[in-house]
Amino acid sequence: MTNNNKHIGKVILAGAGPGDPELITVKAQRAIQQAEVILTDRLVSEQIINDNASENAEIIHVGKQCRTGYSTPQQTINELMVHYAMLGKKVVRLKGGDVSIFSNILDELETLVNNNIPYEIIPGITAAMGAAAYAGIPLTARGYSTALRFLTYYKSDVVSDKYWKELAVTSDTLVFYMSIETLPVIVQKLIENYIGEEKAMAIIQQATTPMQHIKVIRIHDFVTEEYKELVSPTLVIIGDVVNLHQQFAWLNNNKNNLKTEYFKTIEQPVQDSRLIA
Ligand code: SAH
Repeated sequence: MTNNNKHIGKVILAGAGPGDPELITVKAQRAIQQAEVILTDRLVSEQIINDNASENAEIIHVGKQCRTGYSTPQQTINELMVHYAMLGKKVVRLKGGDVSIFSNILDELETLVNNNIPYEIIPGITAAMGAAAYAGIPLTARGYSTALRFLTYYKSDVVSDKYWKELAVTSDTLVFYMSIETLPVIVQKLIENYIGEEKAMAIIQQATTPMQHIKVIRIHDFVTEEYKELVSPTLVIIGDVVNLHQQFAWLNNNKNNLKTEYFKTIEQPVQDSRLIA
């Protein structure tokens, strides 16, 4: 198919932010308001869609859960994007956080390019930035860390033994996405590779939502049994900066203390607790 088709639509790949529906860009919000079709992930706040999508927009949930439960195959998502764009529709492909961080954006971009479909990319606030801000953890605080790494460890071969050594000794701040089920192994590997006694980690569940819950512990004090009930989505931040949480936390683990409009009005978790972590 070619671009000569006059009725070809457009696909906007947009980040919806980490949970709090106010953490979306004005640009993404406008794209949602103008969309005729919205393909949305599970991590996207329902409120964003309820508040912004047009009544006539077709909303399709294409959420993915990596290991458990139903997962819309990537192929199907690709086909839906192409199908609606070819019908001349304005399509918004909405993803949690930022579009490019631990998402299948590459598959989607290739599909769009291969089919000559015009597209735009609108960035979003990734979970690490949302979680760090709402936890009062400055990720590269002067004197604590000079770099930041976004990582994942959802299966054993994504981090090599050599790299574990590096991760254990670095002063960079480490943020692990999609790694809650493997957290005991992450801890074990870091300890095996002599991570410092003082190194702390923050386990942040449902960051930026009314259900946000933060636990800060030293890596060496981690006890697997205590973390069996973690609710996803969850992010893990490791590094000296984590120790700043105590001083700069501005939200307690309690929704009554939350300040924005969103936190005043929403009582229910906006995120599906069956999500993968
Ligand atoms: N594109 C997304 C990440 C998708 S991978 C982004 O930029 O944020 C999904 C992982 O992101 C989850 O397993 C979890 O580790 C993390 N995550 C997403 N939203 C989160 C939230 N509100 N609180 C904590 N972790 C979150």
